Amino acid sequence: MPQGILEDDTVTIRDLLDTKIMGILTPAPSVVRKIFEEKYQVSPKAATEFYYHFSQATNYIRTDRIIKDEKWETDTEFGKMDITINLSKPEKDPRDIAKDGTAKKSGYPACLLCRENEGYAGHLSHPARQNHRIIPITLCGEQYYLQYSPYVYYNEHCIIFNKNHIPMAINEITFNKLLDFVKQFPHYMAGSNADLPIVGGSILSHDHFQGGSYVFAMAKAPYEQEFDLERYPDIHAGIVKWPMSVIRLQGRAMDSIVAAANHILTKWRGYSDPEVNIFSDTDGIPHNTITPIARMRGDLYELDLVLRNNITTIDCPLGLFHPHTEYHHIKKENIRLQIVIFILSYRKKLELCLRKFWRMQAFTREQMKGKLHSKDLLKVYKKRTTSFL
Ligand SMILES: [Zn+2]
Repeated sequence: MPQGILEDDTVTIRDLLDTKIMGILTPAPSVVRKIFEEKYQVSPKAATEFYYHFSQATNYIRTDRIIKDEKWETDTEFGKMDITINLSKPEKDPRDIAKDGTAKKSGYPACLLCRENEGYAGHLSHPARQNHRIIPITLCGEQYYLQYSPYVYYNEHCIIFNKNHIPMAINEITFNKLLDFVKQFPHYMAGSNADLPIVGGSILSHDHFQGGSYVFAMAKAPYEQEFDLERYPDIHAGIVKWPMSVIRLQGRAMDSIVAAANHILTKWRGYSDPEVNIFSDTDGIPHNTITPIARMRGDLYELDLVLRNNITTIDCPLGLFHPHTEYHHIKKENIRLQIVIFILSYRKKLELCLRKFWRMQAFTREQMKGKLHSKDLLKVYKKRTTSFL
């Protein structure tokens, strides 16, 4: 029976109310942090297990929506690939959009990742977070916080975000922080979106990483070709068998991997290859960057570096190395960190489309192919992937 509490029965307005109710039942941040610390003394896994279940129990992670997501595996030439269709992120109701258009913009919290979201009441254009609790962690001496993604795209999908609202950056210290995270939480992987539009994530304005307890298809992909890095003899380096251009570094010494990764980043940032339309910059605007992903492999540190370029052309205004127009009904937005699984929105469920899309994902190779026959492609690709080092 309507009680007149809700102004309207839209998803957004109902979410604001049920979060407010859950917020009353959720323990204070200090309580949650203390339990996390105690569990961490038992093991990092015990701590994250507690925190993940807590985040579900408070309805911060809306489990009833997540279970609507569809997931399956499909065989590809690169091994078994995970495909997911994200159906849990609520679509905006036109009535809410209309109301939102007339609402005042407060600019507080500055974004969805800011620590001020913890406990925040929310409004039509900003989700309520009274039931949200964040965990402080230190990476390379800097203050970060751990939280889960409310939409958990994969198991225990977490977000590690800077205490301050400062922009994303991919640099030497980023590699160091990712490895520092997997050192502290060896059962989790951690990656960062790139720091440029098109190839980066949806939030470039707030420094953050993403992690979780999930073995992605990419982590299972083997070396396709190994090579030596003269300056870093203790690093095992090679190209990964993957549709994008990925260099994998493995080693026991974190410092060496960080230095080697920075060497590759510096070289890649300055690399141009006009024959395949890779330009390091145009009119002073940089195009090359890296999407890094860190994990522990036994007692070895492992860092995958995905080489990215965000150049646009007249024919491809959304990016040359990006799904082209004919695939935009499947994926139009940034190809971000979750390229490793496919987060496909809404109702495009046809496997046939997905398979076509999968082939499209080989865009880097396709672009490098030029007029070459596909059999020659791999040779060219291998040569180019390391020729800049
Ligand atoms: Zn922020």
